[in-house]
Amino acid sequence: MSTINPYENALKQLQDAAKLLKLDTGVYDFLRIPKRILTVSIPVKMDNGRIKVFVGYRVQHNDARGPFKGGTRYHPAVTLDEVKALATWMTWKCAIADIPYGGGKGGIICDPHKMSVGEIERMTRRYAYAISDIIGPYVDIPAPDVYTTPREMAWIMDTYSALKGQISPGVITGKPIPVGGSEGRGEATGKGVAFCIREGAKKSRIKLKNADVAIQGFGNAGTFAAQFMEEMGTNVISISDSKGGVLDKKGLDVEKLIKYKAKNRKVGGFPNSKQISNEELLELDCDILIPAAYENQITKKNAPNIKAKLIAEAANGPTTPEADEILFRKDKLVVPDILANSGGVTVSYYEWLQNLSRDYWDHNTVINRLEKNMVRAFNDVYKTAMEYKVDMRKGSMVLAVSRVTQAINNRGIWP
Ligand code: GLU
Repeated sequence: MSTINPYENALKQLQDAAKLLKLDTGVYDFLRIPKRILTVSIPVKMDNGRIKVFVGYRVQHNDARGPFKGGTRYHPAVTLDEVKALATWMTWKCAIADIPYGGGKGGIICDPHKMSVGEIERMTRRYAYAISDIIGPYVDIPAPDVYTTPREMAWIMDTYSALKGQISPGVITGKPIPVGGSEGRGEATGKGVAFCIREGAKKSRIKLKNADVAIQGFGNAGTFAAQFMEEMGTNVISISDSKGGVLDKKGLDVEKLIKYKAKNRKVGGFPNSKQISNEELLELDCDILIPAAYENQITKKNAPNIKAKLIAEAANGPTTPEADEILFRKDKLVVPDILANSGGVTVSYYEWLQNLSRDYWDHNTVINRLEKNMVRAFNDVYKTAMEYKVDMRKGSMVLAVSRVTQAINNRGIWP
């Protein structure tokens, strides 16, 4: 994994927005530093009878607009600076989606692929216990992120509810449907990416029919994005996972590839495809590129070689600030992460509303509301970018920072 520090990237993006907005220096400092950072030790009884201690974090960046909100990541490369960056991006993302939340994020340094289900459950519950004092339905609401799924969300909901002595579905989103999850939450991030691509294609005059698409990453966001891109008539020519990618210029059969991956635990070796690396995928000759994996994938090194005209960031932080400048000069349309992948947290918000009201919506209601909100957010960002004559990243940051600043100024500082 890359050595570029994602928190430094997040700070650089904030600095650029602060300059454009001529932001008050006190408010700028307020936005640079997370409100609260919690580091926890998580002792877990492993299957071999020994205790192993994991390190976990919960970072609460800003809650001027509402409770902290953001996912929990399980990955061996998790660092505190990464979680700080991800929490900061959540503040901006919720402001752009215009949902009443601030930003937070959590993570545990672990490799869930090398743990049994029982070990993952014990680690998850102990983590929930360790952060239980600073989360809550009106305080901080976690959700899934890299290598966490509805299963882990149910364990966190159950542990928190047991500790508080009352069922609290609103403490976490991304739950399985039987315990208060929402229709449409699973596909929400991918669906939101697809709506952004549809809107972005209109702006950059790309015909979606038969447009060539490459997708880096085949987790929740990448998989659903691939399905929706196929439904929209594009030609998904390449998909990768952490072990490498596959390419078929005639177009991959996404459904078959999903089944193949479920069986073989990798896309590599998919019949009739050419094997390529993750690096090669990013530089493919295609119309639309969807980075749906990790931070810092598009850097100043490979940005000059990117051929796609439209880049929609399903991952958080895949493009460095230097790469952004290069892509802007090359006239690429980058739909930034805090807009492109905001469908996930938007449907998390719908899930939370349903939990608090105990009144559940059908699938169409969720998706129609998501579509309206994504299109509005896309146009708000596009308009801001045009107004300031900047790229959509800077446009999205200007919009987000000004919305959060308004909330801070309205609330004032107390005590
Ligand atoms: N982890 C997702 C994100 O980065 C979802 C967060 C949420 O639903 O709270 O946006």
